[in-house]
Amino acid sequence: MNLHFDHVTLGQRVLFGSGCAADNLAAEVVRLAARRIMVIASRSETAVAQAVTQHIDVAVFHDDVAPHVPIANAEAARAVATDNSIDLLVCIGGGSTTGLAKAVALTSGLPIVAVPTTYAGSEATNVWGITEAARKTTGVDDKVLPGTVIYDAHLTLSLPVELSVASGLNGMAHCIDSMWAPRTDPINRAIAAEGIRALAAGLPAIKDDPQDLSGREQALYGAYLSAVAFASAGSGLHHKICHVLGGAYNLPHAQTHATVLPYVLAYNAPAAPEAERRIATALGTDTAVTGLNTLRKSLDAPHALKDYGFDETQVPEAVELILPFVPDSNPRPVTATDLDALLRAAHSGDTPVL
Ligand code: NAD
Repeated sequence: MNLHFDHVTLGQRVLFGSGCAADNLAAEVVRLAARRIMVIASRSETAVAQAVTQHIDVAVFHDDVAPHVPIANAEAARAVATDNSIDLLVCIGGGSTTGLAKAVALTSGLPIVAVPTTYAGSEATNVWGITEAARKTTGVDDKVLPGTVIYDAHLTLSLPVELSVASGLNGMAHCIDSMWAPRTDPINRAIAAEGIRALAAGLPAIKDDPQDLSGREQALYGAYLSAVAFASAGSGLHHKICHVLGGAYNLPHAQTHATVLPYVLAYNAPAAPEAERRIATALGTDTAVTGLNTLRKSLDAPHALKDYGFDETQVPEAVELILPFVPDSNPRPVTATDLDALLRAAHSGDTPVL
């Protein structure tokens, strides 16, 4: 088959080094000639934020961070940035914190240096999300793409194993969904495959020993690759399902992704042989589905949506909400009956099978 594709690579500077975040941030501030810096980090990340910013002058620390970026939080943070004549945003935390910085950048055009502390990957995408009247709106704008990302695995040592596993599988979902998302191409599939390999190496090491720095580094590296692949390939069936479930039923982000992923893989794998081979090879197993199931079992991963507040009576409504968003690129047609079966299995936690 001829190679024929249209690929966009987003421009970012990535500084990766355990124990180097404070020095790397100080060097970036000098390079960017920033004078008025706003640091966004949630209250629980205050100590981490102070350690990471120890070598720079901070104009204002802002800790009013909430999941899914409520519009009131976005507007409050925007006002703080304006009132303090800010010229650089530094966000230190998980996807919710990065999301707040993106909301400020969206209207102000301010540059962002992101210092992630989970494996959500928002730092490597140009996707923003803001929640208003219980509805999350997302959009794509290069203004929200952090110009620099500083990765330091030391900052993730405090992330509890359960959350590390869920967040890491959120990254795995970016990779697997990239294999059949609307803008999938050979470049983002190659990046996604390396992301799967790194996450499959890192997460079991973290489960065995949460203080294992090399496992944390592999997971963080995999999380970055997963987000790069996702930003390039776009949202596939898995992300469409999780976006609807998260928004309509207020389900936790990482756990929802971790739970739904094996069902989408089992559904699509028979119709996507090349993706199936790539995923199986990256996982080092005979088939993609058994590989992911085995990995998830070893990680004691989230496995049933009923554990996160999703009720089986909500399945028919969820099916109706999801169906209009099923991407045309999905390798297998999706009917209401198929989605119903997939959601019921994910609700109860039945083993995903082909
Ligand atoms: P989160 O940022 O809400 O963090 C989850 C919890 O972990 C929080 O309580 C946080 O305080 C805590 N935490 C973070 N880092 C920690 C650490 N190192 N040690 C201990 N605790 C820590 O959750 P998340 O899963 O990182 O991000 C989810 C959000 O990100 C969602 O709103 C999702 O939509 C968004 N997201 C956006 C994109 C994008 O491209 N725009 C991509 C992925 C996720």
